[in-house]
Amino acid sequence: MGGPLRHFYDLTRDEIIALVASWDFSPVHAVRLWSYVYHDGVDRFAAMPEVPARLRARLEGELSLARPPVALETLSADGFTRKYLLALADGPRIETVLMRYTGRVTACISSQAGCAMGCGFCATGQMGFVRHLTPGEIVTQVLHIGRVLRRAGPAAAAGPARVDSDSPHARHERLRNVVLMGMGEPLHNYEAVMRAVDILRDQNGPAIGAKRITLSTVGVIPGIVRLADEARPIQLAVSLHAATQAERAALVPVAARWPLAELIKACRYYVEKQQRRIFFEWTLIAGRNDTPEQAHAVGRLLRGLQAQVNLIPLNPTAGYGGVPSDRDAARRFQEILAGHGLPSTVRQRRGLDIAAGCGQLAGGARPP
Ligand code: SAH
Ligand code: SF4
Repeated sequence: MGGPLRHFYDLTRDEIIALVASWDFSPVHAVRLWSYVYHDGVDRFAAMPEVPARLRARLEGELSLARPPVALETLSADGFTRKYLLALADGPRIETVLMRYTGRVTACISSQAGCAMGCGFCATGQMGFVRHLTPGEIVTQVLHIGRVLRRAGPAAAAGPARVDSDSPHARHERLRNVVLMGMGEPLHNYEAVMRAVDILRDQNGPAIGAKRITLSTVGVIPGIVRLADEARPIQLAVSLHAATQAERAALVPVAARWPLAELIKACRYYVEKQQRRIFFEWTLIAGRNDTPEQAHAVGRLLRGLQAQVNLIPLNPTAGYGGVPSDRDAARRFQEILAGHGLPSTVRQRRGLDIAAGCGQLAGGARPP
């Protein structure tokens, strides 16, 4: 005791059980402790009457339940998107987005403060790398969104009048979908991200289904191969943006290190090993990567791969002058992909008025 506190949210359920057992307390108490935190949303040991006082005292001296406070909350004009600026203890700020559309609730969470990958069209890339997030800093973003939903009560689902909306038993929208598409490159912070994913998947914890967790990567090949080899059935999305090495390297600087041909090879390996389809993201920039030639090139590149392409019309950022493709260009692109047997969607543009769209998160920097 006496040293710096460890963070509760960095630890898995098994680790908490082992820790409590190492202090000679029954695992039953550890299980209750875990459920206080992850099921009941309690964030103070003092508010856990069913945990023995002696154990609570020990916990106070060893573990921290502190969560990064909200420095700013913004709500989009259409009411579908909420963005939270969270202040990390040592200064950096990160953003987490709650999206309520397409009939479901999704949390878009960050894996790093800033990003080292330097994509010029992305606000996070424009700000540079600040630091990796810890597993707990990733997990608590999801807990924060869960708490917001609990507090909101039955909300849009026209349920009975709110009696005790903070009770875990109150009817409320439950968070079921998490996308690692906020600030940062998740596969550049592999260990922390996967530990957080395992905590989020815990059936006695946040219980987010692995299939409802989507990780988006710029194309960090060693991370994709590792993910393919490990038994962690989350969804993978790869940000492609171009179908030739030269065009991709012009948009995504790290393509020089992880070339397109090898990237696609890693993607094929992933699909084969995991027996799961893969998603590709394609930010549509007018006149740049939205031409029929490009669409045909993607079709050829991904031939035979069990894949879906998500097209994202470019969102504005302060440091990039490109223009988003219009509806017609996006539709034409989709039709060509369909001709190659490739399903695709065009991502809805939401939250742009509060700079909460894809690629717009910059830790509180002002919107363009
Ligand atoms: N670092 C990861 C995940 C975060 S970005 C990655 O790059 O995949 C989530 C998605 O938003 C990525 O597909 C990214 O290419 C895209 N994106 C970045 N900037 C964008 C912008 N200005 N407009 C639209 N999409 C953007
Ligand atoms: Fe980083 Fe992704 Fe933005 Fe590229 S698009 S700078 S990898 S967050």
